[in-house]
Amino acid sequence: MLSIRDLSKTYKDRQALKNLNLYIAAGEVYGLLGPNGAGKTTAINLICGLLQADSGEVFVNGKVVSDKTRPWIGVMPQENLLYRTLSCEENLMFFARIYGLARRLRSRRVQECLAAVNLLDRAKTPVEKLSGGMQRRLSLAIAIVHRPKLLILDEPTTGLDIEVRHEVWELIRWLSREEGMTILLTTHLLDEAERLCDRIGIVKQGHLLTEGTLLELRQRIPAREIVTIETSEPNKAVSLGTAHGFTPRRYGSELSFWIPEDLALKDLIERFDGVPLDAISRTPVKLEHVYLEITRGPER
Ligand code: ATP
Repeated sequence: MLSIRDLSKTYKDRQALKNLNLYIAAGEVYGLLGPNGAGKTTAINLICGLLQADSGEVFVNGKVVSDKTRPWIGVMPQENLLYRTLSCEENLMFFARIYGLARRLRSRRVQECLAAVNLLDRAKTPVEKLSGGMQRRLSLAIAIVHRPKLLILDEPTTGLDIEVRHEVWELIRWLSREEGMTILLTTHLLDEAERLCDRIGIVKQGHLLTEGTLLELRQRIPAREIVTIETSEPNKAVSLGTAHGFTPRRYGSELSFWIPEDLALKDLIERFDGVPLDAISRTPVKLEHVYLEITRGPER
């Protein structure tokens, strides 16, 4: 559905994308992750035809991006682009017209979209009277009003409370499963990517560093589990852990170890014999660990 070949883009003296290659199959939900400034929004703008690439090509549904491919793409931008004094219905009608939906289909489609994002009872409410979560949902409704084949969601749930976040996740799943949309989403929320994405790509400084399914990415860390400890003697813990074949890692202020074998808690604690342990916790390898490993600079 989406194929990006050797895409590069420079703003004045800053290269935002360097030979980016990406392929997303029809029906896939693909998550593009990366630190601030990695080039994610630039990639989205190039896919939508809002920016001109220096080199490389973008194909949507087999066609080079142009005015013709625009109706196949729906975008929910990072910042809601809504008319604040217009109602939900009026906003949707406006965008339905912009996307060229036939007049006789517009009303029905607008009602369908309002229902899909659970805003039917707010149809006549002006945007400025909606909560942040409702505005986000309306933004999603606008992105799908013309039934795009490829739906692009730029940080769909940033700034939303956890309850609304769950609602938006449910909607995204529904669009993927029931409507069969191909979805490209960017996010800084790694659990969001874990929950929603079939495949995940990690970009940094305009390069795709790695990609794969969640399982494939998790397997990049050779550990059965990650153990985090609190201790007043971290250096001693690192020496002992390393001697037992554990790989030490600092995640922020936390001291963790990759544990390559299955160990009972008693055996695990025994491995740190002589180190005062204030707390110990264990977790399976998560996308967060892989992401930190892949994006960390050599200086760390
Ligand atoms: P974020 O996660 O913060 O949204 P991003 O991955 O979307 O970041 P981009 O917004 O694509 O990153 O930016 C990529 C790089 O290009 C950054 O270094 C940014 O400062 C630069 N950049 C983006 N837009 C412009 C612009 N219009 N003019 C100049 N530089 C830009």
